[in-house]
Amino acid sequence: MDTTTRTMNVRKRIALVAHDHKKTALINWAKNHREDLIKHQLFGTGTTGTLLSQQGFEVEALLSGPMGGDQQLGAMIAEGKIDLMIFFWDPLDAVPHDPDVKALLRLAAVWNIPMATNQATAEFILASRHFNQEFSVDVPDYAGYLKQRTS
Ligand code: PGA
Repeated sequence: MDTTTRTMNVRKRIALVAHDHKKTALINWAKNHREDLIKHQLFGTGTTGTLLSQQGFEVEALLSGPMGGDQQLGAMIAEGKIDLMIFFWDPLDAVPHDPDVKALLRLAAVWNIPMATNQATAEFILASRHFNQEFSVDVPDYAGYLKQRTS
């Protein structure tokens, strides 16, 4: 499929997710970067989002990951409603919603959104000059594909 361009605004729509054993790490990381993060619009899976709210962040909390929250985020990414994702994924623990996690990571790759799956990459994203500027990414041109298929 050909690609087209999608431009993210200066104010990004950021998804924040952490598996259970990574929640403390994500909350601490967010608190350490509060000034950077509050300039943007934050979304989180249910428990992660609620914990962040308790720390004073304005976050839209979706359903809990295992209850459909990962799928909600995946759908938002596909619809162009999330610009980047910080996902403190736990590679050392099995989760019941592993297929949903896989689907979320896949959609983030399909739609070419910046995605951190560990703290080091999250630091790189926040330190990027693109974090507080407009930034354009290549995304699949489904509308163009459909036009070709139907003309
Ligand atoms: P939670 O979901 O924030 O509701 O715990 C995280 C996850 O996707 O496992």
